[in-house]
Amino acid sequence: MITIKGKGVVEGVAFGKLSFFQKMQQQVERHKVQDTSAELKRFEEAKKQAMEQLQILYQKALSEVGEENAMIFEIHQMMLEDLDYCESITNIVCSQQVNAEYAVAKTADNFSAMFSSMDDPYLQARAADVKDISEKLIHILMGNTEQSYSFTEPCIIAADDLAPSETVQLDKTKVLAFVTRKGSSNSHTAILARTMNIPAIIGVGDQLKPDFEGKDIIVDGETGNVYINPDTATFDTMRLKKMELDRENSLLAELKGQPSITLDGQTIHLYANIGSVTDTVAALNYDAEGIGLFRSEFLYLENQDYPTEEEQFQAYRTVAENMAGKKVIIRTLDIGADKNIDYFQLPKEDNPAMGYRAIRICLTRPELFHTQLRALYRASAFGKIAIMFPMITSVEEVKQIKEIAAQVRNELKEAGVPFDPSVELGIMIETPAAAVISDQLAKEVDFFSVGTNDLTQYTLAIDRQNPKLDRFYQPHHPAILRLIRMAADNAHKNGIWIGICGELGADLDMTETFLAMGIDELSVSPSSVLKLRQKIRQTDVSKVIPKG
Ligand code: PEP
Ligand code: MG
Repeated sequence: MITIKGKGVVEGVAFGKLSFFQKMQQQVERHKVQDTSAELKRFEEAKKQAMEQLQILYQKALSEVGEENAMIFEIHQMMLEDLDYCESITNIVCSQQVNAEYAVAKTADNFSAMFSSMDDPYLQARAADVKDISEKLIHILMGNTEQSYSFTEPCIIAADDLAPSETVQLDKTKVLAFVTRKGSSNSHTAILARTMNIPAIIGVGDQLKPDFEGKDIIVDGETGNVYINPDTATFDTMRLKKMELDRENSLLAELKGQPSITLDGQTIHLYANIGSVTDTVAALNYDAEGIGLFRSEFLYLENQDYPTEEEQFQAYRTVAENMAGKKVIIRTLDIGADKNIDYFQLPKEDNPAMGYRAIRICLTRPELFHTQLRALYRASAFGKIAIMFPMITSVEEVKQIKEIAAQVRNELKEAGVPFDPSVELGIMIETPAAAVISDQLAKEVDFFSVGTNDLTQYTLAIDRQNPKLDRFYQPHHPAILRLIRMAADNAHKNGIWIGICGELGADLDMTETFLAMGIDELSVSPSSVLKLRQKIRQTDVSKVIPKG
């Protein structure tokens, strides 16, 4: 047995084979085509080939694993023939005049999102099947290039590092855990792993050797230990630990449906942070009372081109409908810094975290912002949507945003498009400037949500992406707590509510302090909701001595 150690960023124990994530060589690109009928012919031929491949797989499975298990390949064949599926591909090719592989990829995204959001576990599982058959088609259309975002069986993913866009695109149903050589605990990849509740260890460095590929390993996300070819004693200890964690989780499950109220009667809203439409399943599963942060930029990261108003509308609408009347706070595009997207063609910057990002991009590229706001307002007719703006530093920015939002509302009203005119507009408090002028900002908006990840980065002048600085990254620093308290006091003096949606919101050592500050809402990764509820229900705020 070999033991290597990194930093555990998501708790949990996972057993499985190690598989190195191969960076995809050939991405599905979107390009215009003149001759759409030739493109449709390519699609039909690829479909025929895929059917043949599936038939061979079916026969092989029939002889090796029996009829019941082989049936999956029959189902895949039926899905390939599905009228809605084929029609969607044809429509995308013809209406957008684009290549077939793009149309297949887009259809796969839409259909799998739709399946994943369904209540029935059987239908949810079909999401993976749609992806599977679509990958097969794309594979054929692109001349058999290896598609490396999917794995044939569930495994523990190893990588040098994973960009947020890569993490987003991995087939999560096959990921048992993450182990990376690099990475920092506040990176978006760690946040995503937390949202997906997948055990994750980062920063193991060169101890992670390529020849561990395919080996049996155990990941302990709490201690940061990775065991390669574990001996029997380790195997047994870890199995017990996993059972204990499962037991704790089932105890926590008893808190579902219970109010988030302290012993002395103070209530707080417990919401979930999500990065995709399908994360609403986890949010509901862990009994979140709403969505406190939908990082809408992941819609852009998943795409090869700017998502259209219609595509965005469908995503926001689905989230709102899935949450069935519970509040859904959608943050407008927060791109830039570590979240880079090729098709945005952002200029290279020496200091991107302090550069052209988030609201600064939206206010200088109004067409982008306008499209997103239209989609958001249209979706507001289907649930309880609130809109939140990132990286605010001045009152002028907020005034400008409100003007653009008013224009969008007027446009929709004139066109007779339904929307909710009372959609709350809020801002993130994630720069020291915003916290310091929160008295003025509170007069302009309906709510604040504190982004402690960036607030810590900017207040302590510490790059949240730099693993070397992890030990200096101290979100409990009194400067941060004072800024949060200042924002909370100013929010309440002006009659608006304040939440926290950065990672610090889930820190159980801070819960009492946040309750004492009168924070109205905490938004955390779905898997942290119940732990936090437990902590809240055990707290007597009148006896708390707040930190900071
Ligand atoms: C934050 O900065 O705390 C936050 C919630 O936003 P993000 O992590 O997406 O930058
Ligand atoms: Mg932020």
